[in-house]
Amino acid sequence: MAGSVLVLNSGSSSLKFAVIEPDSETMVVDGIVERIGEGQVRDHAEALQSAFDQMADAGKRLDELDLVAVGHRVVHGGPDIYEPTLIDDALVARIDELSPLAPLHNPPALLGIQEARKALPDLPHVAVFDTAFFHDLPAAAATYAIDRDIAERWHIRRYGFHGTSHEYVSQQAAAFVGAPVESLRQIVLHLGNGASASAIDGGRPVDTSMGLTPMEGLVMGTRSGDIDPGIPFYLWRTAKMGVEDIEEMLNRSSGVRGLGGEVDFRVLHQCIDDGDASARLAYDVYIHRLRKYIGAYLALLGTADVITFTAGVGENDAAVRGDALRGMAPLGIELDEERNSSPEKKARRISADSSRTTVLVVPTDEELAIARACTHLVEH
Ligand code: ADP
Repeated sequence: MAGSVLVLNSGSSSLKFAVIEPDSETMVVDGIVERIGEGQVRDHAEALQSAFDQMADAGKRLDELDLVAVGHRVVHGGPDIYEPTLIDDALVARIDELSPLAPLHNPPALLGIQEARKALPDLPHVAVFDTAFFHDLPAAAATYAIDRDIAERWHIRRYGFHGTSHEYVSQQAAAFVGAPVESLRQIVLHLGNGASASAIDGGRPVDTSMGLTPMEGLVMGTRSGDIDPGIPFYLWRTAKMGVEDIEEMLNRSSGVRGLGGEVDFRVLHQCIDDGDASARLAYDVYIHRLRKYIGAYLALLGTADVITFTAGVGENDAAVRGDALRGMAPLGIELDEERNSSPEKKARRISADSSRTTVLVVPTDEELAIARACTHLVEH
């Protein structure tokens, strides 16, 4: 099908947009509207208008784009919704009901959906869920060892996030090594501001590091990842912190920022070079956790045919990649220093020829994956 898809990713303070022709894999125009609610852009309605203005400034007027659908990234689909789904009033109501499961993510996505449906009422709008790829995780991976009745009543399970990226990247990795995805045991490390790992056997995920919420797992830009579940109760009971304050701390002032004062790895490295001990500790904690997950997933899979780094840190930070896999030659994992430090942006191999495991860097493209899901749904 000819035509393009407008992909929207609405956060609480930013709106990312992209117009993509899935058939030719062409990015027609993309951009970001930031600081929503802080001044010039007062709300998501104005953010969307600002996105349209940016597109027009780039010479891409909405009415000339031959749009066939609008794709919305939605973080949490809850227990029942996971396939890409045409958005109607009932789905909007359902996503709204799921907001308690993703209080930081689903409400802004809904605002984006509502405004886009108003602005483009004649186009099909499609919700693509971040949880989709992990919906069929094995029960042993999806189940928390907590009171079963309570877990069932409150829909508590491992949902997993960044699913669009993990699926897309694992497929790209298989194509890169020229093997069917069904034949490969893969570990995907999506290291952006949010960060998650997945273990994928034959194209199906067998575990992933994020859980009920995107807070679990790896150390992230501003989120703690795994902590002792006793910490929030201790803070509540003893430090007299409120639930909101604890949640805010674990989401926004923890992780690399909480330890090192910086969220951007380029700056973090600079601080480390300048002798900043907190930045050093932040980096060391980040790497330690990452290595723990890699080890865990090697054990789950038995071995990895392919390990792939993706997203902002994974694609660009050779030091992180090197430190994540250092000393793993006995496990069959050997990086080639020169390949690893190449500034190349395309998908590439960074392992040594002698490495049993192929290590890749593959740029993620969640927008393209969402656009494809939309045309697939609209066509069928
Ligand atoms: P998001 O989760 O917001 O989509 P991205 O995947 O875009 O995040 O990753 C953003 C992060 O990537 C930045 O905060 C920064 O730490 C890291 N990053 C981007 N470019 C580089 C680079 N050249 N070197 C090291 N880290 C980088």
